[in-house]
Amino acid sequence: MSQKLLQFVSVEKAMPEKRRAAERRHDFQEIYGDFRPEKAEQQAARCSQCGIPYCQIHCPLSNNIPDWLMLTAAGRLEEAYEVSSATNSMPEVCGRICPQDRLCEGNCVIEKGFESVSIGSVEKFITENAFKNGWVKPPTPSRELPQSVGIIGAGPAGLAAAEMLRRRGYRVDIYDRYDRVGGLLVYGIPNFKLEKQVVARRHALLAEGGIAFHLNTAVGRDVSLAELRQRHDALLVATGVYKARDMSCPGIGLGNIVPALDYLTASNRKGLGDKVPAIESGALDAAGKHVVVVGGGDTAMDCVRTAVRQGAKSVRCLYRRDRKNMPGSQREVQHAEEEGVEFIWLAAPEAFLGDGTVRAVRALRMHLGIADSTGRQVPQPVEGSHFELEADLVIMALGFDPEDMPVMFGTPELETTRWGTIKVDHRSMMTSVDGVFAAGDIVRGASLVVWGIRDGRDAAEQMHRYIDAKLAASRAVAAD
Ligand SMILES: Cc1cc2nc3c(=O)[nH]c(=O)nc-3n(C[C@H](O)[C@H](O)[C@H](O)COP(=O)(O)OP(=O)(O)OC[C@H]3O[C@@H](n4cnc5c(N)ncnc54)[C@H](O)[C@@H]3O)c2cc1C
Ligand code: SF4
Repeated sequence: MSQKLLQFVSVEKAMPEKRRAAERRHDFQEIYGDFRPEKAEQQAARCSQCGIPYCQIHCPLSNNIPDWLMLTAAGRLEEAYEVSSATNSMPEVCGRICPQDRLCEGNCVIEKGFESVSIGSVEKFITENAFKNGWVKPPTPSRELPQSVGIIGAGPAGLAAAEMLRRRGYRVDIYDRYDRVGGLLVYGIPNFKLEKQVVARRHALLAEGGIAFHLNTAVGRDVSLAELRQRHDALLVATGVYKARDMSCPGIGLGNIVPALDYLTASNRKGLGDKVPAIESGALDAAGKHVVVVGGGDTAMDCVRTAVRQGAKSVRCLYRRDRKNMPGSQREVQHAEEEGVEFIWLAAPEAFLGDGTVRAVRALRMHLGIADSTGRQVPQPVEGSHFELEADLVIMALGFDPEDMPVMFGTPELETTRWGTIKVDHRSMMTSVDGVFAAGDIVRGASLVVWGIRDGRDAAEQMHRYIDAKLAASRAVAAD
């Protein structure tokens, strides 16, 4: 039934039903249910259709949010899907895992005292409803082009680029060193935020549209970048960032101190039904353990919540800044607290104690000092403030750096920045190697899915222009 807009004055913000913490602590299923159509329409109708849509401005994809909210409120759900999917290659993923509190919803301007529209949940509803009704179609092109493109990396950036290029008619081959499609959507982000069948459904759709996937294929090991340049008219590098940051600290080499991504990948693989020896041996299983996670980003939040679900005896998160200054989403902290995680703000490890394997973390209290050149206050240790935390599994979630890409690809002419990310011309998105483009985390550094999608879509457009220009140049030479 059609709803009048501007309902924020009388209708409160609502999210889809959230499962109780006591229940969700014991499984890896998503924590939110789905909106019923009437509820989604009612929530969409809270939009004020303001003159300057700050939600759209702060969405990395510039999603036309007010329009698809209006169409949803009017019950015109197929059109809402058309508008929402016109700018987003995976709205069902962004609706679930974008940090909306920092992006679209955090910038919603309905008057003070009223909460924002639940944009992410409506976006998820629109796309799930479209899948149910068969409105989501594979990217089958209306005409086939003879040119082909190669994409290295099947994460959000690579998949978004692949979809756009395939729709234009290019032959598209994706190479990935993993055995499944999705990159961090599959092996980083846990099931309770994004169920794996959601990613598998996208994979199936892209494959149905004619995109060829070459899995278990590491570029630089199984095939060289030079060979791929011969094979394709243009290449995209969308390989993400995977080198775990470390810290130097006494006792860091003790057993049972593990990198976050190894821990999360093992848990995700187990959930997917794979045999995971490190879980079977207990090395990457938190069951029955006192767990300390070091870090305050999304990865740390995923680790603490995974440890709870594996049946840890206690789970603590140690972060050197305060809650207000953490990089992870506030919403995730709230979920973790509900699930029983204890946060120890303004504290950092000083040493790991144990004999062969870790038995405790000795930590120091911190305070926030003056800001550095980036504008962030620098944490300073508080003298004599040591304390110990019992720990028989420590998970290090300190962020990620790029691998050495020129060495990995055997391409010394591939220029990188001082952070090791791939250098691109920001207008053409081309690297220092002709016809090789780059997008996603490998250009930005560790970022967000929605930025990966944006970059992948932009890179696809630039690759198309490059191929077109080369074709026009060769036609001009032939005509001479
Ligand atoms: C634990 C965790 C939780 C996160 N949670 C969120 C969240 O809640 N919300 C959010 O928006 N973002 C989140 N992020 C960030 C998000 O996952 C990334 O920003 C996003 O996946 C980057 O996309 P990408 O395509 O650039 O790279 P990736 O997703 O990393 O994909 C890169 C792909 O390239 C492949 N590859 C790498 N090297 C090679 C090679 N040599 N040959 C072939 N293939 C190769 C990899 O196997 C991988 O499949 C999280 C990240 C982590 C680690
Ligand atoms: S893509 Fe992310 S930021 Fe953009 S509207 Fe959807 S949830 Fe909000």
